[in-house]
Amino acid sequence: MHHSAEGLVSEAGSSPRSGALLQRGRRVEAPVIRGWGSGWAPVLDRAAGSHVWDVDGRRYLDLSGSRATVAIGHSHPRVVARVREQAGLMMHCSAERFSAVRIDLLERLQESAPEGLDRVALATSGSSANELALRLGLAATGRRDVLCFSGGFHGNDGLARTLSARRRSNDVAQLSGGFRVHYAPFPDPATAIRDGRTLDDVATECLDHLEDRLADPYGGFGTPGVAFIEPIQGSAGIIVPPDHFLRRLLTICRRQGILLVADEVQTGFGRTGAMWAMDHLAERPDLLTFGKGVGGGLAMAGVLGRGELMAALPSGDHGTTFVTNALNLAAAAEALGVLRDEALVKRSHDLGGRLLMRCQEVLGPLQRVMDVRGRGLMVGVELADDRHEASTAAELASAVSAACRDRGILLSVSGRRRSVLKLSPPLVVSAADLMEAVDVIGQQIKANSEG
Ligand code: PLP
Repeated sequence: MHHSAEGLVSEAGSSPRSGALLQRGRRVEAPVIRGWGSGWAPVLDRAAGSHVWDVDGRRYLDLSGSRATVAIGHSHPRVVARVREQAGLMMHCSAERFSAVRIDLLERLQESAPEGLDRVALATSGSSANELALRLGLAATGRRDVLCFSGGFHGNDGLARTLSARRRSNDVAQLSGGFRVHYAPFPDPATAIRDGRTLDDVATECLDHLEDRLADPYGGFGTPGVAFIEPIQGSAGIIVPPDHFLRRLLTICRRQGILLVADEVQTGFGRTGAMWAMDHLAERPDLLTFGKGVGGGLAMAGVLGRGELMAALPSGDHGTTFVTNALNLAAAAEALGVLRDEALVKRSHDLGGRLLMRCQEVLGPLQRVMDVRGRGLMVGVELADDRHEASTAAELASAVSAACRDRGILLSVSGRRRSVLKLSPPLVVSAADLMEAVDVIGQQIKANSEG
């Protein structure tokens, strides 16, 4: 996996060719796009399975699954063939006409949906799917308050942006005026560890707090019409809440008539070792949003829900031009077939279990590792600040990620404190590559820690 290229690695790990292309890219792209400021070497031009190659032919293991988006592997041959075939037949079909490929995808999605969530509305991004779920929930309940959780991430576009807990997003909520978002606390393992408490206790306290706020006429809360939750928080740093937290939240929601939206944009499509993360609880939400891996590499997202709820908005009220693009639909339909035929959900469960154990064994004991957690092939390794404050956890995480890149492994850093190494590889990754990568990460954490 490691392709050393002595003498070639220059600024930010880039080779001369990567470096020259980066310069060109920086000259033309607006810095508002993520990655621009961070150097973002290497420049990639090819991918297959769980690997990507840069413009100089160096190979990298895509341990982040390109932000947890590549589930069935990069450029899966079946998806490539299906897209090629579809391109020759019809590339685009607008939403007002059904296409055969659209019906194929809708039926496959329905087959894999949690029981009862048998209506589908497609979208082109997770953000747009969440926005639709929000509007459906508010329309169905006639309420205007929305419940979200600290650390939650639900998208960057349009109204979905207002659901994300990061403070900068709230401006849109002020402007939109049509609804109010309230944030309840989500259990944070780092805080629990710092305070010497169990995550179970913290989770219970979070919901006690929510119930108090809901019951308090002076709590500033109207009863929410809809609640958004990531069953496992992704961007916040792979935070797996105790099952009792989600179960009790569902009970609270049912009691108060709050519609629960499980945002499974990141956790869905086998990522956590079940088709949907809510399947682990044998519970179903009112609405479920999906995206990322479902598209097999192209843009596909949407909402699943019960028939009456999915009819809460007028016909034709949702959708953007490319939501029914035939190439995207074909890729997603084939990706669902691959997930089933290659038993990738089970693979995510089994290999994910081994990965978590290996991380706990190899990384857990390291001085600068605070916590190792995850479910399926969605594992987070949270780093700690140096006791002598020589380097913060965020600095160490970014140094480890850069060092791993130079050893042929692409690793994302995420988390509320940017201190979590995120392992969400393609579900087809080989066990040998994965275990070797954990060793490399361990070596790099040690090498970049003091002493
Ligand atoms: N919801 C979750 C849980 C996500 O992780 C993301 C993206 O990272 C989104 C929503 C937004 O999806 P998109 O980037 O496709 O708009």
